[in-house]
Amino acid sequence: MAMATTTIKQVLHYQPEHGVWFAANQALFNRVAAFYFEVIQAHEKVLTLSNKEALTALEKLTHTTQKNPTPVMPLEEILEDIPAMFRRAAINAALGSARSFHSHLARWRKRKEKAEAKGKKFHERPPVPPRTWNKSAILYVGMWKERTDTSIVMKVWTGTWWSWIKVRITGRDLPGAAEMGSPSLIRRGNQWWLHTPMEKQFKSPGKIEKQVTTNAHTKMCAVDLNINENLAVCTIQTVEGTILATKFIHGGRRISGFRKQQLGRIARNRRKTGIIAEGEQDNVHLWNKIRHGDEQVAHVVSARIVQFARQHEATILVFEHLGNLKPAKGKYSKRGNDKRAYWMKGRIFTYAKYKAYNAGILTSRVNPRNTSRECARCHSLVARYNTGQPAEGYISGAPLVFCAQCGMKGNSDRNASLVISQRLITRYQKAQEKPPTPLARERAEKSAGVVTSQDAKGKEEPSIPQAGHGETNEHGTAQDVSLRMEKCTSDILCQLRLPLE
Ligand SMILES: [Zn+2]
Repeated sequence: MAMATTTIKQVLHYQPEHGVWFAANQALFNRVAAFYFEVIQAHEKVLTLSNKEALTALEKLTHTTQKNPTPVMPLEEILEDIPAMFRRAAINAALGSARSFHSHLARWRKRKEKAEAKGKKFHERPPVPPRTWNKSAILYVGMWKERTDTSIVMKVWTGTWWSWIKVRITGRDLPGAAEMGSPSLIRRGNQWWLHTPMEKQFKSPGKIEKQVTTNAHTKMCAVDLNINENLAVCTIQTVEGTILATKFIHGGRRISGFRKQQLGRIARNRRKTGIIAEGEQDNVHLWNKIRHGDEQVAHVVSARIVQFARQHEATILVFEHLGNLKPAKGKYSKRGNDKRAYWMKGRIFTYAKYKAYNAGILTSRVNPRNTSRECARCHSLVARYNTGQPAEGYISGAPLVFCAQCGMKGNSDRNASLVISQRLITRYQKAQEKPPTPLARERAEKSAGVVTSQDAKGKEEPSIPQAGHGETNEHGTAQDVSLRMEKCTSDILCQLRLPLE
């Protein structure tokens, strides 16, 4: 079994005074969490324990009972009568922060030692423990009851006493099949929300190797990520080679233009101010804008990829490895832009992998070598060229490809995505064909006898049939590569635009 987690976000409807209570409740939660962080700092050994053991140890240090009348650091100094489940939620929040802080600290110490061992100066500042606490209160069982689709009863600290209040909920209903985690009371601006993590168990999808080698109808969604206008080009292909659909996800020019604008502003600001203070981030606001833009595009693009895969019931998602970032030449803003586009590609992959997994789709990556230079139909080298120019040579990044060997013509990114999915199939089929324990030399002789060249090898791979059964209203759906691929380049224009704001 596999597990998927999603968070259901619901708006709360409450009287104005309840809003004040939620704030008081959160403030208390943070005071208690900060208190336990101090306790942990004073008793660092707690961090070597499991969460469950640490909880017991911390309660012993702080909680007054008949058996434990004089704890070392009594919690009562903050407030008497804190409900046990409120305390425990705060302890776990403090434990999480403390574990994160101490692992950062340990890594910093290691880097420092390493630098000093090499005789280098070490300027990096050590991580600091949280100065302010702004965590959302988590409601463990016991702090809430009578939850329905439209309401919940919660126990909150009003600032002077503990009170049970009933609050109306709107928004997404909780999915029935999933297991509910502890909800959190979250403030967004002036509005309070209830966020509930949902964990869903599902039958783990079969291993990719098994899917590819045992079922010729397994559908794969192959994705070619780019830094040009087509941020992602996805094709659905079955293992036996039928191409069912293609999707172009645009927005590359827009995000690149946005980044360029911000980077230009940063460069101008820097020229104006001259020296940048060491260790201090300049133009924080502009950097944040760039980061948020990239982050948002990565989320939108990855969601679209997975949505497309689900729509066509693909069970495998294939990308190519990112390769290395080639140091770009040119102005500061150009270099910075390319670097960020490269990072964004990495993020699109990571998010897509996570979103796909939650949908029961597995993700794999293949060798990126020459995916753009190879013909998806016959595996010869293709010519890549710009619209209106002769179909010859290879212009990196140009939108069209032509294969002199088999006559295939089409969109270059789409061709690359087809090559990507074929690589995955080839990988597993080759793995299967391998004799159990061949000697290296034997194998070389054997293969030399059977396969004479890359091209010949290519012909053994699944060929692309001339007729398929894709829906005709799908943009870029292609049954026949040579005919339909040309058409899909003009279809790019009708595709959706990426909303940035
Ligand atoms: Zn070809």
